[in-house]
Amino acid sequence: MKDCIFCKIINNEIPSYKVYEDEDVYAFLDISQTTPGHTLLIPKKHVKDIFAYDQTLAQSVLGKIPLIAQALKKVLPNLNGLNLISNNGKIAGQAVFHSHFHFIPRYNEKDTFTLKFHDNSKNYSAEVLNKLAQSISKQIKNEI
Ligand code: AMP
Ligand code: ZN
Repeated sequence: MKDCIFCKIINNEIPSYKVYEDEDVYAFLDISQTTPGHTLLIPKKHVKDIFAYDQTLAQSVLGKIPLIAQALKKVLPNLNGLNLISNNGKIAGQAVFHSHFHFIPRYNEKDTFTLKFHDNSKNYSAEVLNKLAQSISKQIKNEI
């Protein structure tokens, strides 16, 4: 897609530090290097976000995750963990609107990356959670 920075990377119109490529995906170092080895995995097909995936695309992209994660673990000394993140939508922090998955290697408490899950469980009754789970479950069944 014209004017998409990641499509330009795939087409070699702008440079990148490539780590993997096949007919479906391209993976390269994130220029920010939030932590050393921070890598992005993207589909070659221009899709905006996860909401635009079908199952075939999901398999070809998400199926490469273990390959890349395991390579990072093998080559990066002291890698003790990995955050795997995809921001979908502006409110979720997406800045580049060509779907991508961040691999963020974690080393220790001083990593210059943080992620915080707040615990709001006290605001939810079992009844509310049951209704929510059922409505999502029903929708999933409709889609498969
Ligand atoms: P997001 O906020 O999830 O959309 O993340 C977009 C990511 O793309 C950021 O972490 C940027 O550092 C990264 N990025 C933007 N331009 C480039 C580029 N030319 N090469 C590598 N990474 C890039
Ligand atoms: Zn694109």
